[in-house]
Amino acid sequence: MADKDPELSIIIPVFNEQNAIWPFLTTMQNALSELHETIEYVFVDDGSTDATVQEIRSRMDSDLQIKLLVLSRNFGKDSALAAGLMHASGRAAIPIDVDLQDSPNVIPEMVTKWHAGAKVVNAKRVDRKNDSPLKRQSARLYYRIFNAMAEYPIPPDVGDFRLIDRQVIDILNTMPEKARFNKDLFSWVGFESAEVIFDRQARQTGRTKWSFWKLWNFGLDGLFGASTVPLRLWSYLGFCLAIASFIYAVYVLIRTVLFGIDTPGYASTLIIILFFGGLNMLSVGILGEYVGRIYREVRDRPLYIIQQTYESREEK
Ligand code: UDP
Ligand code: MG
Repeated sequence: MADKDPELSIIIPVFNEQNAIWPFLTTMQNALSELHETIEYVFVDDGSTDATVQEIRSRMDSDLQIKLLVLSRNFGKDSALAAGLMHASGRAAIPIDVDLQDSPNVIPEMVTKWHAGAKVVNAKRVDRKNDSPLKRQSARLYYRIFNAMAEYPIPPDVGDFRLIDRQVIDILNTMPEKARFNKDLFSWVGFESAEVIFDRQARQTGRTKWSFWKLWNFGLDGLFGASTVPLRLWSYLGFCLAIASFIYAVYVLIRTVLFGIDTPGYASTLIIILFFGGLNMLSVGILGEYVGRIYREVRDRPLYIIQQTYESREEK
């Protein structure tokens, strides 16, 4: 049985992508035709409400080796990818978007670097010319802040599109955290890595699933998940403010002793109360971020629920 296992698993999370399935598979077949590896497509349907599942199943009687995991609802791309990685049987896996923004043409190059010994091959975008200036700037800022705070830096402009060797997949599969930020998980494990450059295209069909708020929350989740620096910042800030307050207290004391009490002081009192009140709330909010995460982790619910699994008929 072991030698029938595919060598390469392509993992595709899909969420309401009925029009993207056929173009995707056709493009992939062309792009991968020169590879000698046997290929398995692992689709993870992330709670689609359109005909995505039917579209995928309609390709399962062709000679493609397809596995389809249908999740019970929308769990988000990172959880869908975790499901895909868990059920991939290849000696390496490549997560890829179905909208053809991740160019399949670089896959042969990734495979070559994998054969040369790399355990992880990242696909890095040449530039972000297909993004709006706002998204470009915010992405750059985000990577900078993230890497200043995170325990282990993530390479900028590398998404989930990368090749991961079986050795690394097995490790990722044992990592139990519920709040998954794949970019961080993938680089945190380390291992010898290589890089290929690709030109990220504009989306072919459908529209992006990322609204501003979704992206904002995703970014915050990633940051709070990968770093405890925000917590520590409060210790420093608290320390500085305590020193400042002490100096001010000494100043007020000396002034009172020397010059007596002068009553007016309404404005400064009010400002100080408001300022410290605001800081307190902010720090409680940040604590809350971490408490919320702890809650999610200890509750220990599964990352995803597979409602049904389909597989292409085994070839004799
Ligand atoms: N996706 C998913 N679950 C979600 C959102 C997206 O599985 O909740 C899939 C989607 O079908 C696509 C990939 O993740 O294959 C990337 O999504 P999208 O193109 O919307 O993201 P973008 O390219 O804009 O970052
Ligand atoms: Mg996309």
